[in-house]
Amino acid sequence: MAKDCCNHECSNPKLLTPKYQKILWIALVINATMFMVEILSGINAQSVSLMADAIDFFGDAMNYGISLAVLSMSLAWRARAALFKGLTMGIFGLLVLASTLWSIMHGGIPEAYTMGLIGLIALLANLSVAMMLYAYRDGDANMQSVWLCSRNDAIGNIAVMIAALGVWGSNSAWPDLVVAVIMASLGVSAAMQVIKKARSELHHL
Ligand SMILES: [Zn+2]
Repeated sequence: MAKDCCNHECSNPKLLTPKYQKILWIALVINATMFMVEILSGINAQSVSLMADAIDFFGDAMNYGISLAVLSMSLAWRARAALFKGLTMGIFGLLVLASTLWSIMHGGIPEAYTMGLIGLIALLANLSVAMMLYAYRDGDANMQSVWLCSRNDAIGNIAVMIAALGVWGSNSAWPDLVVAVIMASLGVSAAMQVIKKARSELHHL
């Protein structure tokens, strides 16, 4: 789920071997692609929970980007990049909450089939990134954080699939709306923590 979970920023840049850098690039591309896929299919299928799940893919793609850029980045720029990530995640989260409110008032019934299928693809994407990071884990890469991050991401994807099942079974939008509110709120609170941390880092430089 959209906690600030997949955070590899603390790995020592000197330990980023070329092989591990390649893994981070693949992880970045997978997360950025899944972000676009979930936003577009969320709009297409009128599913706000799919859009809420996309927030985490965005945050993770940013994390991999920051990890890769760390080589040439000063501490101040890392903190600024984290601040940018937090602000963007927060705005996405608020937009999803606004869309959910709009859907409560005017929305139709989301396409359960699309929700379930994209949720499953998202789960497979997160699992393959987790296995890749595990297989090519680098020196000081924090395996516990990779595990926690993958677990939380998988819970989010499974929540979307459960919402799809609920929409299909009840023929109403409510399961989609409830899951979206929970996930988008978690996204906004994670974003606020990222912003707070980045601001105090910038302050103490
Ligand atoms: Zn994540």
